[in-house]
Amino acid sequence: MSIDWPDELGPARLETTVMNYCGWTTVAVVFGFVVYRFLTGDPFGALINAIIVVLLVSTILLGRIPRFKPQALIAFGSIITASCLMSALLVSPNGLLWTYLVLWINFLVLPRSVAIVLNLLVTVILAANVWLFDDLLQHISWITVAVLISGFSLVFTNELKAQRRMLSQLATLDPLTGAGNRRLLQRDLERAIAENRRARRDSTLMVLDLDHFKHINDNHGHEAGDQVLEQFVTMVRKTLRTEDGLYRLGGEEFVVLLRDMDPQTAQTNLRELHERLSGRVDSPEGPLRFSAGAATLVTGENWSQWLARADRALYQAKNEGRDRLVMS
Ligand code: GH3
Ligand code: MG
Ligand code: MG
Repeated sequence: MSIDWPDELGPARLETTVMNYCGWTTVAVVFGFVVYRFLTGDPFGALINAIIVVLLVSTILLGRIPRFKPQALIAFGSIITASCLMSALLVSPNGLLWTYLVLWINFLVLPRSVAIVLNLLVTVILAANVWLFDDLLQHISWITVAVLISGFSLVFTNELKAQRRMLSQLATLDPLTGAGNRRLLQRDLERAIAENRRARRDSTLMVLDLDHFKHINDNHGHEAGDQVLEQFVTMVRKTLRTEDGLYRLGGEEFVVLLRDMDPQTAQTNLRELHERLSGRVDSPEGPLRFSAGAATLVTGENWSQWLARADRALYQAKNEGRDRLVMS
């Protein structure tokens, strides 16, 4: 079972925003330098700045293609790092001022290990070029501030990522059982439909409802019912592959989604799953059994039609006497 990010909280969102904002701002500023240096008789400085502009624009545009986003972010961090080194070492010591911004942005856009390596490189290389600094005091001040900024960025981005992970879990998981919630279910069904349209990949979903669950609540209390729900989810999750999904539709109704599996295999697997798991969890009212309805996605269906078809099969399973699986 893997729970990944909903699109609106996706890990790439902040990084892309930072790349776009800082990228375009830098392009505008550096383009100004290209013109200034060219007009004031510094063609070499103008050329370096022009190369930076072209590389930045290409990277930002590459980042617009979703599957190239990670590469674009690494390229962006590397370009701004190299640019800041080049402008300090080859153009003017004023380039040192850019390093503060670059050290900070690197932690925001790059994987932590890459940011640590690049920031160390920048700090060590520039600190080693003593001639860039007016005097010892300026040299030590620059190193101190550079190290402080890197440390602060590291702590800040770690905290930010932890909060984002927590927010994503709050937004996508059912708090009692840890199964996916309805929001995640809808997102994953829509993705399965898109995969079916794009690559003819089949997916099958199963809606299941615990049999006579109310008796547990009525005779042993709501807490006993909650414990049974948790045990049930733990057990079902153990039998699923990482790419499968398990969601709580509400109350004591759950959905299992088998992605990218041919319909025949999916049916066999779901039958086995029902045979193995129904009656497997012990409740205060005896072995916990469940009824289920399954449906393989039919091309052209939307997610609610697909779910409704499985739900009708579940209804039939209940009417036919419970503790069984009906395929739609
Ligand atoms: P059936 O075989 O027809 O499904 O019978 P049932 O008793 O399982 O069905 P019904 O839908 O009548 O009852 C579901 C019960 O699930 C009612 C409600 O009290 C209980 N329930 C819903 N959500 C929770 C929850 O979060 N915790 C607990 N303990 N019980 C819940
Ligand atoms: Mg029930
Ligand atoms: Mg129910």
